Amino acid sequence: MKITDLRCAVIGRHPIVRIVTDEGLYGLGEVEFTKTYLKPFVLHFREALIGQDPTDVERCMLRIRQRGSFKPYGAAVSAIEHALWDIAGKAANVPVYKLLGGKVRDRVRVYNGSIRQKRSGDRPEDYAADVKWMMERPEKFFMVKQGISFHSNMKDTIKDFHYGVRQENAGYHGAMDQGQISERGFNHMLDCVSAMKEALGDRVSLALDCGPGWFLPDAIRFANAVEKHNLMWLEDMLTGDYVPWVNPQAYRELTQSTTTPIHTGEQIYLRHNFKELIESQAVRVIGPDPADIGGIAELKWVAEHAYMHSIMMAPHGTANGLLGLGALVNVCATLPANYIAFEYPSASDPWWADIVIGLPEGQIVRDSHIDLFEAPGLGLDIDAEGARQYLGEEDAGFFDP
Ligand SMILES: [Mg+2]
Repeated sequence: MKITDLRCAVIGRHPIVRIVTDEGLYGLGEVEFTKTYLKPFVLHFREALIGQDPTDVERCMLRIRQRGSFKPYGAAVSAIEHALWDIAGKAANVPVYKLLGGKVRDRVRVYNGSIRQKRSGDRPEDYAADVKWMMERPEKFFMVKQGISFHSNMKDTIKDFHYGVRQENAGYHGAMDQGQISERGFNHMLDCVSAMKEALGDRVSLALDCGPGWFLPDAIRFANAVEKHNLMWLEDMLTGDYVPWVNPQAYRELTQSTTTPIHTGEQIYLRHNFKELIESQAVRVIGPDPADIGGIAELKWVAEHAYMHSIMMAPHGTANGLLGLGALVNVCATLPANYIAFEYPSASDPWWADIVIGLPEGQIVRDSHIDLFEAPGLGLDIDAEGARQYLGEEDAGFFDP
């Protein structure tokens, strides 16, 4: 089998990769809806892959892997990797989890990091009402993740929250707001955490997405102050999101100073950049994203390495869309016992659910779990007729054989 074309169309803000072969099989991959601008970067890999056998996924990846990087630039390579696996699974007539070593669970656990309503404000009572709303959702999520500090409006709406330079209207999520947090800001965060825990009790667990932007002394002080709340983790305090470096040494000092689990990794590209983080036990939980790390096989490799070091695994996925959900479900079915849950993704627009084929009838998440998709490949497809209305003129041939 040979690849005859690699296409990319932006459908509802998600760049969608479609790899076409000379045997009529095709594969799909999806880029986060926050990265619409990556379409030309995806397409520049076309020439490198035409003529290759897509079922030799690793040989194809060797041709393009070194051209990816930390978020956002690992996403193009990752989505292509997903599309290759999708074809390989269809060619073998098995779900992709079979090709990754087989499943160790029949359903995968997910947490709520993306299903949101607009919060009524940034006061403790607003935070409490927000998590209460999440707790009462029909998915019965076992855990919710909430943004605080630099990973929220709090840094702007709480007067003198920190003493650093404010990056007003910087345009990017993840712009480098950072600084020492004021006592007022610090106490406000503690009040919000207490209010949320009071609402959640121990029925639904809580994790906090915190930064990046903290300095080590504040991070140590905060992680110690919230120990009594038994949080699932504190995410990306020092680096993370779109920060193109890791700083494992500082993470290691933070981790060793507290019993609160410290988490990072959603922006990191490739196993090599997890090496020091894992081998120096710098964090307790890692959260690579299969749509950023370089693909699902890359994520599986990192999860196994983390397992050997007693580091937990909670993949990121908030904006990966419904095809991205297929990639997450397939790889997470195969992960070892350090797997906690992945971040349940949403699509850019509600109509996505109408054009994706292969989703379970009714509710996708039940009792905080998703049943594995049993169709060959990554298990999901796009209804070409239904999707055509969302294609730009230049992508009219996207669904051609
Ligand atoms: Mg995060």
